[in-house]
Amino acid sequence: MRFMFPMFVILLVLISHKLMLAQDTVTSAPVGADFRILRENMIKTQIEARGVKDKAVLAVMRKVERHKFVPQELLHAAYADMPLPIGRGQTISQPYIVALMTELLQLKGKEKVLEIGTGSGYQAAILAELVKEVYTIEILPELVKRAEKLLKDLNYKNIRVKCGDGYAGWPEFSPFDVIIVTCAPEEIPSALIEQLTEGGRMVIPVGVAHQELKLLIKSGGKIQQKAIIPVRFVPMIKSK
Ligand code: SAH
Repeated sequence: MRFMFPMFVILLVLISHKLMLAQDTVTSAPVGADFRILRENMIKTQIEARGVKDKAVLAVMRKVERHKFVPQELLHAAYADMPLPIGRGQTISQPYIVALMTELLQLKGKEKVLEIGTGSGYQAAILAELVKEVYTIEILPELVKRAEKLLKDLNYKNIRVKCGDGYAGWPEFSPFDVIIVTCAPEEIPSALIEQLTEGGRMVIPVGVAHQELKLLIKSGGKIQQKAIIPVRFVPMIKSK
C-alpha cells in the first residue's frame, strides 16, 4: 500500500511523456503533408484553372518541392500565387508562369535546354525532371553558389550551372533544342537565336515597362514569333 502513491506518480509521468511524444509527432509530421496539400491546391487553383493541360508539366509541378527554393522566412508563402523575393533584388517566378513557360516548350524528354537566369534554381529543377540536360546561366555569383548547392543537395545530376552573362549564351554547349529566358531583355539577344537548333523553340519575356512573353520557333533558318501574354519579369542585366 505504501508503494501505491509513488507508483501512481511514475505511471502518470510515463503516460504524460508518451502523450508528449505523440504530440511531437503530431506537430512535426504534417509539415511535409501540409506542403503537399498546398502544392496540390496550387496545381488546381492557379495552374489547371488557368488552362495548363500538359500532364507531364502538371506532374512535375506536383513533384518538385517549391518550398525548398524560397527563403526560410517566406516558407509560408512558398505556394502562393505570386513571385517571391530570393535576395539581390531578384525573384522566383509565380508558379503559373513557370508552368506556362514549361508547357510552351513542348518537351519530349531528349532535349538539351539552356536557361538564362538561374535565380533560385526552381525552373532549372522543373526542366531537369523533363529533359536530358539543362544548362543554366546566372549573372549574380551569390545566387549561382546558392542554386548550385541546392540542386546538388537535391541530387540533380543533369543540370550544369554557370556564372556568366546570358546575352552571350553558352557557345561551348550550343546548339540547344530549347532556350528559356527568365529575365527580360529589351530585345531578343542574337546569340541566343544563333544557339538554337533548327526546329528549336525559345520562350522569352521581351520589353521594359511593357513586357510580352514570346514563343519563337526557328524553322528553315527563319524565326516565327508568337506573343503569348503580357508579363512582368526582372530585367536582364547588361554586364557591359
Ligand atoms: N528562373 C528563376 C527566376 C529567376 S529571376 C527561378 O526559377 O528562380 C531572373 C534571374 O535572372 C535573376 O536571378 C537575375 O540575377 C538573372 N539575370 C539577370 N540578368 C542576367 C543576365 N544578363 N545573364 C544571366 N542571368 C541574368
